[in-house]
Amino acid sequence: MTTLKLTFAGHSACFLEIQNSVIAIDPWLQENPSCPANLKMPPRIDLIVLTHGHADHASEAAALAKRLGSSIAATWELAMLMMAEGVPQSQVIPMNKGGTVSVNDVQLTLTHAFHSSSYDTPQGPRYAGEPCGVVLRSAGLSVYHAGDTALFGDMRLIGELYQPQLALLPIGDRFTMGPAEAALAAKLVGCKIAIPIHFNTFELLTGTAEEFKKFCAAQGVQAVVLEPGATHLI
Ligand code: ZN
Repeated sequence: MTTLKLTFAGHSACFLEIQNSVIAIDPWLQENPSCPANLKMPPRIDLIVLTHGHADHASEAAALAKRLGSSIAATWELAMLMMAEGVPQSQVIPMNKGGTVSVNDVQLTLTHAFHSSSYDTPQGPRYAGEPCGVVLRSAGLSVYHAGDTALFGDMRLIGELYQPQLALLPIGDRFTMGPAEAALAAKLVGCKIAIPIHFNTFELLTGTAEEFKKFCAAQGVQAVVLEPGATHLI
């Protein structure tokens, strides 16, 4: 039976191992104060998926892709920015929300997210396309990483279309959903397991895992809180 191994690297960064692929979502590692030392220099990433251009998600992707030969999937504008950073065109997978591409037997779909997106360059911030979430599916397994987002009602459609067993949801508040909104998001997407991300990294992120667990319990959703470096199998 196919299994999927999720490793949480702190903040919004995670690694998924499935179908002999190592996929990294928003791999912000070196500068990420939550990322454990043993995950800061990964030896292999086959595919990097970026939810948006903000530095705490995308600032290390180009360097990783150049070092490891990883492909990068992102919205068109962010994909072009990765090429401007020197990532070879052959490694870049431009796409946009609503579309699905298949990479080594993994179906990758970009979804809506309500947030903003820019990418820092020496000339100042550049427009990086719209922010998104991502659904990864393979062999009956489905995982939704919401990126940075507010709560929105069409998360119900993400649940209906892709039936994620597991959802990674931002709970830090201020820039994204807080714990109450994220627990309702988990209910809307109908996931069995909800894992909180985008909290605890900076002082400005005030949402806590304890609150998230409490709100999830009220929504009838199982919250699983992973310490940075911890893994979860589905
Ligand atoms: Zn952001």
